Amino acid sequence: MMESALTARDRVGVQDFVLLENHTSEVAFIENLRKRFKENLIYTYIGSVLVSVNPYKDLEIYTKQHMERYRGVNFYEVSPHIYAISDNAYRSMRTERRDQCILISGESGAGKTEASKKVLQYYAVTCPASGHVETVKDRLLQSNPVLEAFGNAKTLRNDNSSRFGKYMDIQFDFKGAPVGGHIINYLLEKSRVVHQSHGERNFHIFYQLIEGGEEDLLRRLGLERTPQQYQYLVKRAIPPLPPGGQCPKVSSINDRNEWKVVRKALTVIGFSDDEVEELLNIIASVLHLGNVQFGGEDGGNAYITTDTQIKYLARLMSPLNQEQAGAARDALSKAVYGRTFTWLVNKINASLAFKVSLYYHISNMAGSFELQFCINYCNEKLQQLFIELTLKSEQEEYEAEGITWEPVQYFNNKIICDLVEEKFKGIISILDEECLRPGDASDLTFLEKLEKTLGGHAHFVTHKLADGKTRKMMGREDFRMIHYAGEVNYNVNGFLDKNNDLLFRNLKEVMCLSENKILTQCFDREELTDKKRPETAATQFKNSLAKLMEILMSKEPSYVRCIKPNDAKQAGRFDEVLIRHQVKYLGLMENLRVRRAGFAYRRRYEIFLQRYKSLCPDTWPSWDGRLVDGVSTLVKHLGYKPEEYKLGRSKIFIRFPKTLFATEDALET
Ligand code: ATP
Ligand code: MG
Repeated sequence: MMESALTARDRVGVQDFVLLENHTSEVAFIENLRKRFKENLIYTYIGSVLVSVNPYKDLEIYTKQHMERYRGVNFYEVSPHIYAISDNAYRSMRTERRDQCILISGESGAGKTEASKKVLQYYAVTCPASGHVETVKDRLLQSNPVLEAFGNAKTLRNDNSSRFGKYMDIQFDFKGAPVGGHIINYLLEKSRVVHQSHGERNFHIFYQLIEGGEEDLLRRLGLERTPQQYQYLVKRAIPPLPPGGQCPKVSSINDRNEWKVVRKALTVIGFSDDEVEELLNIIASVLHLGNVQFGGEDGGNAYITTDTQIKYLARLMSPLNQEQAGAARDALSKAVYGRTFTWLVNKINASLAFKVSLYYHISNMAGSFELQFCINYCNEKLQQLFIELTLKSEQEEYEAEGITWEPVQYFNNKIICDLVEEKFKGIISILDEECLRPGDASDLTFLEKLEKTLGGHAHFVTHKLADGKTRKMMGREDFRMIHYAGEVNYNVNGFLDKNNDLLFRNLKEVMCLSENKILTQCFDREELTDKKRPETAATQFKNSLAKLMEILMSKEPSYVRCIKPNDAKQAGRFDEVLIRHQVKYLGLMENLRVRRAGFAYRRRYEIFLQRYKSLCPDTWPSWDGRLVDGVSTLVKHLGYKPEEYKLGRSKIFIRFPKTLFATEDALET
């Protein structure tokens, strides 16, 4: 409750950062987070933005009783919670008839996926039901374990890391009952299928199937129960290549139980037994494919050394040398898995049918991501949207209340977005140009072209200095971008290949001929006759991001900013350096500054009057006149100076927290 937060503010801090006395102090900001974190208060507002710190332990704050507490209640009357954000979006949708979206961001392990699940659970429990709604609710909830099985993996930073971006729409009918949904997936990290860094794993589904799959199922799929058998799961070091994942078991994950959950979820979503079998067939094929090894006489053509049924591979890959054949095999595995994932999402969509949206994206400044560059670009775009919309909504509220808007200075990161996406001059354009150019195009010629076109740009750096000298501490194959959140170095190795994402035509042909119904849907014959060159990965991503921005701009946003308290995945540890970094790159101080630029606190007249009317004989026990006059009488009696507050159409705006605190303190005495 507001009372407890304000009166106990020395112990538990303030529940809204706008109430910090020194709002420009990062130290004060982090101190407030720390106080609250120690008291297990993981949620704090910046105005209407929810800041959440991952507790890394189960807190008793997600019960049905908690859900009930937030249902239909005003934002500020209860302590900050993800349920308050969910409920607020839901009520705005119903009363204002405007589409809502909830944007959840933060680095890997910060709690985005968990937050999105809490939102879904809140709606599943509190929204009214009607007709077939129960099945829609079930399907919406069950889509999570399925997508997590195929799209999440253990990484060094998070045992259940989402390796794809996800946007999810939930549609409500006029009674406010959820009646459908739609999911869009972005940029699955396909490279994980064929290789993982040390201490990381492939996608969960592989281990779930091997550990949990029934005996006869595994027999049909030709799988053994030992992950060590499969190169794609536990890669043996083949000099000079280093070993892969080597990490089949994770203490926090029970693959066998998860298998049961996923298998059941597939049925709830509406997969037939035959479809499940075909899907698992593909998963098994990828594992088998990974075990196909190639030999090669010095520099000569490859031959298959493994005894396998996949005979076509020999024929198809024999013109290649050993290394090329291995790369073609991996490209096929990635394409098969990637397309199957998209098929799965489409299938789930078909079983759901759609207005509050839920969006969460992968935010990962330093991970080993597929085109990590794309992820950071996505973060730039979302930051731009965030600043634009926060400023816009502040301005709108001032206008609606008839209060003069005082412009706020802020860093506009459009210049960085342009650096990436501008036509002809942007990094993506230049990359595509090199990808399409026949001849000697390579990662290094790409870098040279970047230098030529972008050298001197305030947010772009390479090892070459303007005077022809070499910048120290910077690789010759790197370029550096100054993102709004900090500097990131990108090694250009593999940029062209990843961007092209090509698969040999004859491998595509074989896939089209497959008897597996899912594969024939994934590999369309039309693709073979289509003369047009497929869009590059970066351009595809740029276009889907532009579409997403358009969708998000059309909705009213709520924001959840997730923070990871330590790198050890431990409860109770508050690593200040790590947190300061996230506060910076989530732009929280900037956000607070915008929010505080004018007034720290604003409240509707009736709520303000109700709370403080006892402090003035003229307004106690009740005020019969216009609300605004009541509030005016009250604050004059309390000695507010004219520069400390403004009266709008329906709200009082108070400039400094100390004014409000003094009034709060007066209540207690
Ligand atoms: P990634 O970008 O890697 O997908 P993420 O932001 O989605 O990361 P989550 O998977 O949501 O991170 O969270 C990581 C782990 O942190 C969870 O598996 C869970 O153990 C813990 N966690 C996150 N949020 C909460 C919470 N509200 N309560 C308890 N534990 C949590
Ligand atoms: Mg996640």
